[in-house]
Amino acid sequence: PKPVVAIVGRPNVGKSTLFNRIVGSRVAIVEDEPGVTRDRLYLDAEWAGRSFTLVDTGGLDFQENGEINRGVRRQIELAIQEANVILFVVDARAGLNPDDEEAATLIRRSEKQAILVANKIENFNSQTQLYEFYRLGLGEPVPVSAAEGLNTGDLLDRLVELL
Ligand code: GDP
Ligand code: MG
Repeated sequence: PKPVVAIVGRPNVGKSTLFNRIVGSRVAIVEDEPGVTRDRLYLDAEWAGRSFTLVDTGGLDFQENGEINRGVRRQIELAIQEANVILFVVDARAGLNPDDEEAATLIRRSEKQAILVANKIENFNSQTQLYEFYRLGLGEPVPVSAAEGLNTGDLLDRLVELL
């Protein structure tokens, strides 16, 4: 079986955009409107001759039940069960969020391999918004713009090294 790579993170950080970017836009489910629940998506992807199955667990984003972070928690539980590597996406425009910290704690405790992806960075000359994400304790954040495809090749280089 191919290694499994799960994309997790809060709603609207750009998980589905990154998923589409990596799998080559074969599917396009990007939600501008919150509140739409989708199933998890699995698609095979390949980079530098390495194949893997990419999972977008974002359908769980909005299964909230009074508890703000419940959907994200569920995503992470599933990713811990089934993934070899977790891509943990944060929104560098929005800045560090308490839910990011909670998610990061779960990921750190799982001892799964994880890459911290700081999305929505279109301007690589001003990366100061990256620094606060070091506090998540998941290593160096990898800046990308999933929407523009900026630095996603570098992200994939790092990813396939872990597979
Ligand atoms: P998800 O809920 O985490 O799956 O997030 P989506 O992929 O649905 O994206 C949420 C919103 O963020 C959409 O309006 C996207 O167009 C936008 N978005 C995603 N990636 C980027 C990016 O790299 N830069 C910017 N500026 N917006 C992005
Ligand atoms: Mg999504």
